[in-house]
Amino acid sequence: MRLLLVAPPGAGKGTQAARLSTHYAIAHLSSGELLRKEVAADTKIGRIAVDYLRRGDLVPDELVIEILAGPVLQAVGNGGYVLDGFPRTRRQAEEAYRVAQLVEGIDLQAVVHLEVRREELRRRLLARARQEGRVDDTDAVISHRLEIFDSETEPLLGFYRSRGLMVDVNGEQPIDRVFVDIVGALDTYAPVDARRRATGIEDAGTR
Ligand code: AMP
Repeated sequence: MRLLLVAPPGAGKGTQAARLSTHYAIAHLSSGELLRKEVAADTKIGRIAVDYLRRGDLVPDELVIEILAGPVLQAVGNGGYVLDGFPRTRRQAEEAYRVAQLVEGIDLQAVVHLEVRREELRRRLLARARQEGRVDDTDAVISHRLEIFDSETEPLLGFYRSRGLMVDVNGEQPIDRVFVDIVGALDTYAPVDARRRATGIEDAGTR
């Protein structure tokens, strides 16, 4: 199983990805979590990434690709992955597609999109700030991250949708219900059919 979770900050990507990882026995690869670990460990990548994370800006594509490439390849040989937070830009999606062309059995089978209204996202992120104290969960940075989602990540949804890879789920329901809906949709979904379709991104946005 090779899945991608695309949703704005606060929609529940991390929570659902962790559950999907257990359910399907696949690796949970969170680009944000991997970056936060690099920062905590004060690595070379972490020292570059820290200011981007603090501002809510996207970390340069090269860095994200560098930290994810190894874990993704490893996961492919181990039952699959659920990618949480990557790709987030068209360029990242193109790069992921380029690599998928080179390696047998690495391409995406489904993209799960969690739909949550803006007011609810803000409410959740501010609540998370009180609980976890993430540096990027302040009011101003939340607004910035939501803007970046709209300008950089949202356009990817149309691309994946046009390829028949998209599963839309109402992310405002209770956590268990969201999970049941995702698994129900994936279990009735025909990944073989999706895989037969072209998955190139060259004409993204043109359909
Ligand atoms: P997340 O945990 O997914 O909310 O990500 C937290 C932060 O990590 C984002 O605001 C970005 O600064 C950075 N980040 C996570 N994933 C990516 C990505 N695919 N590309 C660039 N930056 C990312």
